[in-house]
Amino acid sequence: MRTREQIDRRIAEIKRALTQLGPLRPGSISRQYNICGTPGCRCKADPPEKHGPYHQLNFTWRGRSHTEFVREQNLAEVAAELDSYQQLRSLNEEWIALGIERARLRHDLRKPKSTAKRRDEKRPSLETRRRATRK
Ligand SMILES: [Zn+2]
Repeated sequence: MRTREQIDRRIAEIKRALTQLGPLRPGSISRQYNICGTPGCRCKADPPEKHGPYHQLNFTWRGRSHTEFVREQNLAEVAAELDSYQQLRSLNEEWIALGIERARLRHDLRKPKSTAKRRDEKRPSLETRRRATRK
């Protein structure tokens, strides 16, 4: 189990890593092969030679899905942006998990108090002991 200091150190690293992130955007790239409308085109031959590959970027933003075509020359740049976005998500999630872990640790520090209270409740009360003495 990590100590509060270890958790805080890791959170500080996450904050630093977040400032190092380059341009980012959400989404994933897929390869598409298309058929066109030109009669007698090679894409309608047997076997067909479809057009492409085209690189398509799909992403969902504010509940709406979007599609963009990515040019070959921009492919590496877009891939780096998608990678940075994944890093953001992963750092974000780790920070939240650490926040929960840290809070639980504080809760654990309170436990001895509540255990002591429970032990008190189980112990016969002064009244019961007095009654036993009388008998
Ligand atoms: Zn065609």
